[in-house]
Amino acid sequence: MMKFSVLTLFPEMMSALGESIIGRAISKGIISTEYVNIRDYSKDKHRRVDDYPYGAGGGMVMQPQPIYDAYKSVAKDDKPHVIYMSPQGKTLTQKRAKELSELPHIVILCGHYEGVDERIIEEIVDEEISIGDYVLTGGELPCMVLIDCVSRMIDGVLDSHETASAESHYDGFLEYPQYTRPPEFMGRKVPEILLSGHHANIEKWRKEQSILRTKQKRPDLLKGDE
Ligand code: SAM
Repeated sequence: MMKFSVLTLFPEMMSALGESIIGRAISKGIISTEYVNIRDYSKDKHRRVDDYPYGAGGGMVMQPQPIYDAYKSVAKDDKPHVIYMSPQGKTLTQKRAKELSELPHIVILCGHYEGVDERIIEEIVDEEISIGDYVLTGGELPCMVLIDCVSRMIDGVLDSHETASAESHYDGFLEYPQYTRPPEFMGRKVPEILLSGHHANIEKWRKEQSILRTKQKRPDLLKGDE
């Protein structure tokens, strides 16, 4: 069973992971999640976890001690892989998600405010991951994106009919167009070939469409500069 331990100031935000496919994977025991409130490890009498930055500048910085103690509480019996969600990290890719899905235990640190004291990154973090070149208010949404994306690469999380291997980005291409009933909507017909029942031809058409739409929508993927 793969385990995700999340260090956060806002554990209630993570409840979205209890829904749908990821929620089902948790119930089935394929993955497990634990959410640790960093504030519970504050030694301050007001449970404070942040302070003003040295050298002035705006905002607040998360202090290292509560984060370190929260980390120690989830890394008692093993040395988990520790990820800090950060706009300064490498952008998450499907390839990296697949690699991470092979690990037994991942700890994810969610920053807030101006981020975390640099020394905690040096002390416990193995890798920084970003979900894109923009800045969010906290690491909780990026963390949920990471857990969702990694989890669906684990055997048994998707049902056999929910295959990941044909999907966009799995093999460097975007997925072919999808259609469902009705056969005609607002005068637009489902491509004839999909109604033909000829599996080999459908497969060939889908491959062509996949290449075509990658060329049209994301030509950068074909050049390998993803
Ligand atoms: N001061 C930081 C900087 O400029 O690099 C940004 C801090 S941001 C406002 C607060 C927290 O949100 C970060 O510590 C990080 O955990 C999370 N975060 C924001 N944008 C993110 C992104 N694109 N990817 C992953 N995490 C992000």
